[in-house]
Amino acid sequence: MIPQTERYREMVLESLKNEHQRQLAGRVAGVFKFLRSYALQSYEDPVQVMRDVADTRARSVENLPELLERFEERATAAGAKVYWARNSQEANQIITDIVTAKGIKLAVKGKSMVSEETELNHALEEAGVEVYEGDLGEFIVQQLHQPPFHIVGPAIHLSAEEISDLFVKIMGIEPTTDPVALGRAARVYLRDKFATAGVGITGVNVAIAETGSICLVENEGNIRLATSQPRVHIAIMSIEKVVADVGEALEAIGLLTRSCTGQKISSYVSVITGPRRDGESDGPDELHIVILDNGRSTFYQDPELRQALRCIRCGACLGVCPIYTRIGGPTYGWIYSGPMGAVLNPLLLGVNRCQDLFEACTQCGFCQEVCPGGMKHLDLFNRYRQMVLNGFPALNVRKESKEGTRFMKLFAWGMRSPWRYRVGAKLGRFYLKKHVKDGRIKALPILKGWFQYRDLPAPAPYTFREWWASQESQNVKLSAGKEGSVTHGQ
Ligand code: SF4
Repeated sequence: MIPQTERYREMVLESLKNEHQRQLAGRVAGVFKFLRSYALQSYEDPVQVMRDVADTRARSVENLPELLERFEERATAAGAKVYWARNSQEANQIITDIVTAKGIKLAVKGKSMVSEETELNHALEEAGVEVYEGDLGEFIVQQLHQPPFHIVGPAIHLSAEEISDLFVKIMGIEPTTDPVALGRAARVYLRDKFATAGVGITGVNVAIAETGSICLVENEGNIRLATSQPRVHIAIMSIEKVVADVGEALEAIGLLTRSCTGQKISSYVSVITGPRRDGESDGPDELHIVILDNGRSTFYQDPELRQALRCIRCGACLGVCPIYTRIGGPTYGWIYSGPMGAVLNPLLLGVNRCQDLFEACTQCGFCQEVCPGGMKHLDLFNRYRQMVLNGFPALNVRKESKEGTRFMKLFAWGMRSPWRYRVGAKLGRFYLKKHVKDGRIKALPILKGWFQYRDLPAPAPYTFREWWASQESQNVKLSAGKEGSVTHGQ
């Protein structure tokens, strides 16, 4: 998917006009939010588990260089071949080289956000390899050339009629809106691809340094097929996926599936250590693991920014975000959406390109309350805002002066002196009062964009300072009266 984060404002306006998409985004988010809270009750102490996993994620990120080295050593010892890719182009080149060198013409894929980050499908197709997504939702949006609507439900926005039309076209089935019949048709169609594919390509949910294993979580069995039938398995992972040992991996997976789909555990959890060994009945002859950096090691140098690597892609933050629940995933302009996207996209694509994403944040903080990674989204958004305000050469962030930043500079100048604050507040109240209609301020000649979707109550008849001063003068009068009565009594 070609990033379009610069079009965020424009796309938000389009989404807000799309009543169907708006309602759907809210409903989908609401369902996942409910499933998550229900599933968390299966823990004796969910709060403690959230704390433990957040600590584990923090530790894993702090120890990333050592964990990655150990993972490479153990995975290689188990028979896998490990590659390091500095960027998307290198990762795609490594993978297309492996595939084309073997003369493979058909690839099946398991759902992988990282492969979407690198646009791997496009690179393989350019190299003459036919690629099929194996996850049903991903398969549908792939065939329609659409971006996924939601990290967990990529095709959840489509009606049965739309899916039927697609399947009639590509599979030649009779039109039907029966979901079971549609599922069966996709199964028959994709089975054939799985049976004949030369390579299975997957992502990685968690990599275990202790054993050199990769763990894959899914519900449809397509990843099981992609990793067991083709002779070659290629797994692509970003650097932050590694944890120290099996215990940490299971702890993270337990919270991932609960936060993601509201399941105590997903239908399939595959733990793969090296390729098929002698005597084993299935599995690939070769396992290749590509570890992608793509700018992560650069922002890793910054102790605050590196916390963005704690994300485990559970999608819980999407379901609680007041912005995501009104506009849906595709509006974010790239594969990572919601608060997760507002954190990751600026670091992966460039802070200036994604400025509107984090500036749209209302700072409600719901995202960080539910985050299993213990990420502080709001601190990161504020940090990005500072970068834009002051520039940040280490990440090539340009200083940008916008209407909002000019206003904030003026505001900061006023706040630095009590005298300026008092005069500014008086002038501000006078200005605001002139724009009150029916008890609310619905528009101002300045901050037009801000008022497009919000309004403000009319200013109170008096300020806190005025109220305080009046209380103090009343107290003075009262105490003067009391003193007087005591005097009289004496
Ligand atoms: S930021 Fe946190 S809540 Fe959002 S997807 Fe990542 S781990 Fe899940």
